[in-house]
Amino acid sequence: MDNPPNSEKGKIFVVSAPSGAGKTTLVKEVRRLFPNLSYSVSHTTRPPRKGEQNGTDYHFISKSEFELGIQGGTWLEWAKVHDYYYGTSLDFAMKVIDHGGHLLLEIDVQGAKQVKASYNDAVTVFIMPPSIEALEQRLRHRGTDSEAVIQKRLKNAELEIAQKNFYQYVVVNDNLEQAQQEILTLFKQELS
Ligand code: ADP
Ligand code: 5GP
Repeated sequence: MDNPPNSEKGKIFVVSAPSGAGKTTLVKEVRRLFPNLSYSVSHTTRPPRKGEQNGTDYHFISKSEFELGIQGGTWLEWAKVHDYYYGTSLDFAMKVIDHGGHLLLEIDVQGAKQVKASYNDAVTVFIMPPSIEALEQRLRHRGTDSEAVIQKRLKNAELEIAQKNFYQYVVVNDNLEQAQQEILTLFKQELS
């Protein structure tokens, strides 16, 4: 990083959603319109899905590497989601915010709580599907997951939705254009 440390730290944005609610779709637009927002590529022990690239979608690492990271304090936050580990690099996050840059994390509810515990001024956003039925349809339509995985994700979704009140902002992704507008407006406000 070329910039010197900045006395004013950057903001951390945390976006969570049940799998299939449209987080990737909505965040893509946020990243396109706010190119100065740094995006943290998470580490995971989940195997890559078709089309996913190491270093771009995730850093795909082994379980033993991840567990070594837990012992070594590598993660700003980490959690086990759908049987796999996921974590955010502490080093990457600190480099961004210590230099006054803003950071976007796409992480689950367990991770969001850990970040908020360390960074009380982190901005938290939860993306909701209009209904569990709609979520199921989207997961099937996406065509990336087996039936067993879809069932597990739906079960998890109910638990995640039950925690939506933890978040400062809740965006319901029913009509895509409307949800996109809502999320862009809130980022604009928080970054102004
Ligand atoms: P997530 O990242 O939360 O798992 P995705 O962004 O991959 O979800 O979206 C899941 C599927 O739902 C994708 O096929 C996406 O194109 C579709 N989708 C996203 N938003 C909407 C919406 N508002 N209405 C209908 N389909 C949507
Ligand atoms: P997926 O396997 O569908 O890409 O992601 C599954 C879940 O893991 C999603 O809820 C996603 O937000 C969450 N996730 C992705 N990266 C991280 C991370 O670094 N930390 C935590 N806590 N959750 C993550």
